[in-house]
Formats: sequence, C-alpha cells, structure tokens
Amino acid sequence: MIEAGTSPEQILTLLGITEPEDLDIEAIAYACGATIVPQPLTGCQANIIGFGDRAIITVNSNSIPTRRRFSAGHELGHWMKDRGQNAFGCLDSQIDSEWTANNAETRANRFASDLLLPVAMFAPLAKGRPMTLETVGDLAAVFRMSQTATAIRLVNHGSFPAMLIYYAQGQRNWFLRPSSDIPTSLWPPEQPDPHSLAAGLLANKFTDSKAGDVRADRWFERDKAEKYYIRESCFRTGPDSILVLLWWEDEQQLIDIAEEEELRASQRSDQREEH
Ligand SMILES: [Zn+2]
Repeated sequence: MIEAGTSPEQILTLLGITEPEDLDIEAIAYACGATIVPQPLTGCQANIIGFGDRAIITVNSNSIPTRRRFSAGHELGHWMKDRGQNAFGCLDSQIDSEWTANNAETRANRFASDLLLPVAMFAPLAKGRPMTLETVGDLAAVFRMSQTATAIRLVNHGSFPAMLIYYAQGQRNWFLRPSSDIPTSLWPPEQPDPHSLAAGLLANKFTDSKAGDVRADRWFERDKAEKYYIRESCFRTGPDSILVLLWWEDEQQLIDIAEEEELRASQRSDQREEH
C-alpha cells in the first residue's frame, strides 16, 4: 500500500506509469488504499470516507467522465494529504475551481493535476503548441481531463506567454500569470470589457466557447494598448462561470512594456545617484 504523504510524482514512479494512457485513476487509487465508487450524488460532486488505511471515494455518476476522473483525483488528494481529518464532501465550486487560495481544496486540486496531468508527460506534448482553445482541447483529450485543469497546465508549462482568468457570477475570481515574460503591470479587470468575447460568452451570445484576436485595450488599460492585438480564447466551465485564456502571439506589447519599465528604473537610479 502506498503511504499517506506520498507525492503524485512518487506515486507514478512507484507504479511505473510513464504514458498518459496508463493514468488509470481507479488502479492508482486502489494502490493507495482507496476504492472509487460511481454513484448518483446530490449536494456534492464527490466525497471520501476513510476508515483506518482504507477509503471509499464516491464520485457523481451523473457527471461527465472527465469531471468524474478529476473529482476522483481530487478526493485521492484529500486522502493522501489530509488523512486523519473528518470525511470530505466536495462541491462543484471547489473541485477544479479553487486554485489560488491556500486551503485543502486547492491542495487537492493541485494533487489531482499533478497526478493526472503530470508535468513530465505534459510539457513535451505542449511544447511549441499555440496557447489556444484548440490546444487545450487536444491535450484535454489526450489526458482525459477537464479544459480548466488542462488550461492551467498549459499556461504554466507551455512555450509561450499567456494568462488565464476565471470569472464566476460575472466577477473575476482568480487569475494566473505564470510566465515571468508578462509584466505585473498587466492586471486583468474585475469584469470583462463589454466588447470582449468573454463578456459575450457570459451574456450567452455564444454557446460554449469563442476565440479570436482582440485589441489589447479590451483587456488592459494602458497607454497605446490599442496598438496591439492578443488572442482571446474563452470557454464556459459552468452555468455561471467562464475561463479566459489570453495569448500574446505577437509579443511586441510585452517587449515594449519591459523596455519602458527598464527605462523608468534606470532613470530612477540616475536620480538617486545625483542626490
Ligand atoms: Zn475537496
């Protein structure tokens, strides 16, 4: 039996899993002492009940397979990281949605992602691919994972600068700007600009997803932002939530901002030297 506290990477090494098609969550959970049972659930998406070194993970059989798979990985994360605590019952709004808070739900989501979208397998497949909806869809299919979890992996381990923003009930809930190539002065708005594709998707003008090139000033209030274009891909993740992937396919805006900031920093240090 694989012991509590073992990391996802260690689990995969112990089981000799090196290919995406071998990421069998039922078998992996079983090796960790947990049995996965699909059952219709109301009120939560998945739950786990442990007794001693065995656990039963129940996942909602009414959910789509990618959702069930991620939920199982999430509950297994609770089992491996929070063992000894009371049983967990996890809501839709926690599984695959909480990624930035410092809590057990975020840890369980990271565990599921590290286990079922392992960087060692993901990064080579993402290498050189455009940061778009299509790439997210292709890689989500290879790993049989949700678009959200796959998009997070892509912005963190893809080849090009991109930002990911999650809106729920019309408000920005969290965002990821992993690449050091994106200046911190580019801060996404609390609510999407009415002319953005994201706003259209939130207003149900499009069905499930939409992608296209938009002017950078639709997203970022900055001098001359209207000169640049960025690729906006957005997709629905729930009845009231969407995810937006912004990709600087043309990196000129990032280069120009970096140069401006460098210039300003050097002017500041000149002034300091004069005093
Ligand atoms: Zn949970």
